[in-house]
Parts: sequence; C-alpha cells; structure tokens
Amino acid sequence: FEEMDEVNRLMNPWDPDSELSRLNREAHRKPVPVSAAVFDVITRSLHYSRLSGGAFDISFASAGQHYDYRAGVAPGAEVLEDAVAKIDYTAIRLDPAARTVFYAVEGLQVDLGGIAKGYAVDRAIDRLIDLGIVSAVVSAGGDSRILGNLGDRPRTIGIRHPRKKDDFAVLIPLEDTAISTSGDYERFFIDEQGRRVHHILDPQTGKSSGAVQSASVLARQAVDSDALSTTTFVLGVEQGLALINSLPDIDAIIIDDKGMLHYSQGLLREAAPARRAD
Ligand code: ADP
Ligand code: MG
Repeated sequence: FEEMDEVNRLMNPWDPDSELSRLNREAHRKPVPVSAAVFDVITRSLHYSRLSGGAFDISFASAGQHYDYRAGVAPGAEVLEDAVAKIDYTAIRLDPAARTVFYAVEGLQVDLGGIAKGYAVDRAIDRLIDLGIVSAVVSAGGDSRILGNLGDRPRTIGIRHPRKKDDFAVLIPLEDTAISTSGDYERFFIDEQGRRVHHILDPQTGKSSGAVQSASVLARQAVDSDALSTTTFVLGVEQGLALINSLPDIDAIIIDDKGMLHYSQGLLREAAPARRAD
C-alpha cells in the first residue's frame, strides 16, 4: 500500500499537488523536472504509442478531460474537434539527461490512467519479492500480477464477463505473470442516442472506442499488460492481435463487439477454438 500511495501521490490527475498535475499546468511553457517514476512511466507510454501508431496515447486527456462519466457528460462537436487536435504523443518531449518533460503543444493534457495502475502493481510485487514473499497476487482493479503459484498448481484467474455482472467470461490458470483487462463496462454511461460512452478513447476521434467489449493482455510485467490492454482495446480484434502476436511473451484474449472470444497465437496453441463469451 505504500507503493500504491506513492504512485498515486505522483500521478493522480485529480490531486493538484501531484507531479502530473504540475506537468499539465507548466510543461507547455518550459521543460519540467520530474521524479524517475513519472519519467519512466511516460517513457514506457511513448514506447507503446510508437508501437501502436498512436492508439495508445497518454495525451488522449486533451479530449478526455471534457468527459464526466458519473455526471453523464460528453463534449460537444466543437469542443471535441479543438481537443482532438491537441492529442499528439509526439509533442511530449523527454530529456533523459535532465529528466525533464516538455509539451510542445499548448493545451495538451496527459493522463496516465491507462498505465499507472500496472506500474503500481509492479512496484508492490517488487516490494514483496524484497521481503522474501514467493507467492502472492497484487490486484488494482483490472490489473493484476501473480507471483509464484499455489505450491502444486497455478492460480485460477477470471476475466469478467463484459455484459453479465458478477460473471466470468473466461477462467485461466496462471503463474508468474501479469494480466490486465480493459473493458467498456467499468466507467460508462448510455447517452440519449443509446450509445455507450466509456472511458477508453480512440485518440483519432476523441470518442469512446467501440471496436471490442473487453481486451485482456498477459505479460511478464503489469506496466506492459496494462498499457497493452488499453492499446488492444482501441486497436480492435484484427490490428490488436497482429500487434500482440508480433511481441514475444505477450498474449491476449479479446471479446469483440458481438461477444465472441479471440485468442492470440500463444494461447491458441493450448486453448479452445473461438466461441461466445457466454
Ligand atoms: P481501467 O482498469 O481503469 O479500466 P484501462 O487499462 O482499461 O483501465 O485504461 C482505461 C484508462 O486509460 C482510462 O480511464 C484513461 O485514463 C486511459 N485511456 C483512455 N483512452 C486511452 C488511450 N487511447 N491511450 C492511453 N490511455 C487511455
Ligand atoms: Mg490499461
């Protein structure tokens, strides 16, 4: 919990005293020095932005800041158009020697919600390893990392059913791995046209990405499974699986917009053919 608190203290966008909030206020005027933690998480984020052609982009918040899911508020066309123009990960400039961050576009806003929980989970696991723990699960919402196993067998981890509360779509035996799920059912509202407005945005449109209902990614570290689950969610089944299959030691389970399950190659070698999530 100390590790989680520390990450929250640095990266919480709602806390005006966090390093992230300071960046969002000041980094378009001059390069701002940051902690190694914030620098590393932004560095990793930009890596996944380049890898995904911008599907993962922490500057989605330039548009994301105009949504209020609890209040059921989405930005109008004009606000959105202006905001989408400010989504541009290439405008986030890092200087490793000085450990500073600079935003080359005024009005660009960063949110680390697609990667920071995974990073926090990794830090907690590292602490546990330092303490001599050999078997544990650390979970932060949709991001978990499993250390070791249950002695003689793996743990069983459930992927939530995107349309049936309290139900699992998939149960999967896992050990020594991280798993993250991005879903359209965590934070959302249904608008007047009956559309599901949720918290994962396509950086090209600034609107909720409708390609899939849920994307789960397996990786060694939760920082990677977290960023890649959000990325895969935005990319959709075809492009998402192409990216995942191109990365060593990464796997994915996607539930598409019709509720069909899709597995990456590494899992297909073991798992059943495609079927419905129910
Ligand atoms: P959660 O476990 O909170 O559901 P996800 O891993 O599914 O987290 O990521 C959702 C969060 O990622 C959003 O709340 C937002 O902060 C951030 N996000 C949304 N769209 C993008 C995007 N295109 N690129 C990077 N981060 C995003
Ligand atoms: Mg994620």
